[in-house]
Amino acid sequence: MQVTEIYRSLQGESSHAGLPCIFVRLTGCNLRCTWCDSEYTFSGGHRMSLDEVEAEVRQLATSGLVEITGGEPLLQEREAVPLMKRLLALGYTVLLETSGERTLEHVPAQVVKIVDVKCPHSGEFGTFREQNLAMLTTQDEIKFVLADRADYEFGRDFTRRHELTARVRSVIFSPAFRKDASGARDSSHCLLDPQQLAEWILADRLNVRLGLQIHKFIWEPSIKGV
Ligand code: SF4
Repeated sequence: MQVTEIYRSLQGESSHAGLPCIFVRLTGCNLRCTWCDSEYTFSGGHRMSLDEVEAEVRQLATSGLVEITGGEPLLQEREAVPLMKRLLALGYTVLLETSGERTLEHVPAQVVKIVDVKCPHSGEFGTFREQNLAMLTTQDEIKFVLADRADYEFGRDFTRRHELTARVRSVIFSPAFRKDASGARDSSHCLLDPQQLAEWILADRLNVRLGLQIHKFIWEPSIKGV
């Protein structure tokens, strides 16, 4: 498989935020979100066998969380799915971060799927594969990355229409971060002010989780591989 990086850090953006996690970041993505902070994964990387990826994960941690991410990891489904099965068999809790555009039908049921639904100002609106909703369970998560009020209203209406809060463990509303952010480790880089988002969520009585990418508040936001 084509791998950009494997590293240990803190989980930044799901219900597991704050926990130590090994990240396996695969190379390549077929989408081009306007606020993407992972453009360095679009090309390059290096070939690794399943054995080599497994060995590196085990060397970084013998238990705990592993997240398969990208780029879009399901573009390499033929290798990524066997990798997930191996890691599950070794006792890891496996998270999969995916854009929502690829089918989830071959992803093992025990994998915690964190699935984006792209909003109007993402640049990739309409790419969500609605059939994926039927493959989500109460251990999985759905994430909306929001740049403005129109994105918020889309996420709110989609959440209500599909009764998402009953289907999955967490529905996450996350302010988009400027992709060229650097310097201060604070919310000034958010395209949508978290306080404003919090007030909209409370006003609409939505039972969703406001998600902040906490690694960008812990480390300098332009640093990759954290
Ligand atoms: S799907 Fe993810 S990796 Fe691909 S362009 Fe969008 S944010 Fe970037």
